[in-house]
Amino acid sequence: MTPTGNNPALAVDRLRSARRVLLTSHRNPDGDAIGSELALAELAKAFGIETVIVNRDPAPVSLTELPGVEAVVVADSLPADFPDGFDLVVTVECPELERAGFDGLDRLPILNIDHHKGNPAYGEVNYLDDEAPAVGQMVWSMFKTAGVKPSVDAAINTYVALTTDTGDFRYSNARPRAFRAAAEMVERGADPPTISEWVHDGRSEASVRLLGEALKTLRFLCDGRLASLAVDEAAFARADADSTDTDEIINIPRAVAGVEAVIFCKQWEPELVKVSLRSRGGVDVQSVAAKFGGGGHTNAAGCTFETDLETARASLEASLTEILGGQ
Ligand code: 5GP
Ligand code: MN
Repeated sequence: MTPTGNNPALAVDRLRSARRVLLTSHRNPDGDAIGSELALAELAKAFGIETVIVNRDPAPVSLTELPGVEAVVVADSLPADFPDGFDLVVTVECPELERAGFDGLDRLPILNIDHHKGNPAYGEVNYLDDEAPAVGQMVWSMFKTAGVKPSVDAAINTYVALTTDTGDFRYSNARPRAFRAAAEMVERGADPPTISEWVHDGRSEASVRLLGEALKTLRFLCDGRLASLAVDEAAFARADADSTDTDEIINIPRAVAGVEAVIFCKQWEPELVKVSLRSRGGVDVQSVAAKFGGGGHTNAAGCTFETDLETARASLEASLTEILGGQ
């Protein structure tokens, strides 16, 4: 039987028995992905285990101040000594194995640590908790379960995970549990104003130019309840921007009075469109993303289209319009 459950001890025990770990997360990693990876690498180190963190895509510019982030390898393929030089793969915040963006991870046993609803427990061991505000909070629990005092860096990195995944403690996952964990992290040395500055005030110039490009395409539908915007390859080129510059754009229309859902389509290649969806209240964008082969959470989800930009955008607008109850 596959050991699966909401139990940090499962993950701690499996991690402890490894010797050299390959640690990864989902493509286009966010604060929860990178923060959780860095903190977990420290826990592994406390067990005397060597960890190599490999991500398919770079961290957004806003996360380049995180302690230890320089050790994260960004690569199109797994290290040359994989699988022979390793004995365990750990995925954090990765709802499906394919979302890591690497072929062949399943050549080794996998420890899967995640909080996405519907994670299919693809690991040999699965520590899954869809009520956790962030995977960073789950990693924090692992330190406690293991009886290892988190370093200040681990407190900082897990706090980054928590603050980014809860939208600065504004989303529906900002439950008492998130605040309790945050209080512990701050007591241990995470400094909220400094971290807020990294996360929000470290934007690149290109990201602001790209925001301008995206806003030119903004349209409001369903009597202002739905907003849709997009950036195509030409917009990325004009802004001299890349995938790390898209982060905050979707939050602008999301903050408009009356808007309940936002669609943001990002065209990387002629027939490759990455979609971000956001909503407020009971509007379930996860179900829309799942319909197109993606997933996520009720209020934040995503999927990928292998079509041109306008086809993707039109499909999503139709789907969201239906959910919001017509025009
Ligand atoms: P973002 O829009 O920030 O890329 O993603 C929002 C949420 O949806 C995150 O929790 C992310 O992991 C999830 N998500 C984004 N794209 C996909 C996808 O293609 N598949 C799945 N399963 N989840 C996704
Ligand atoms: Mn997360």
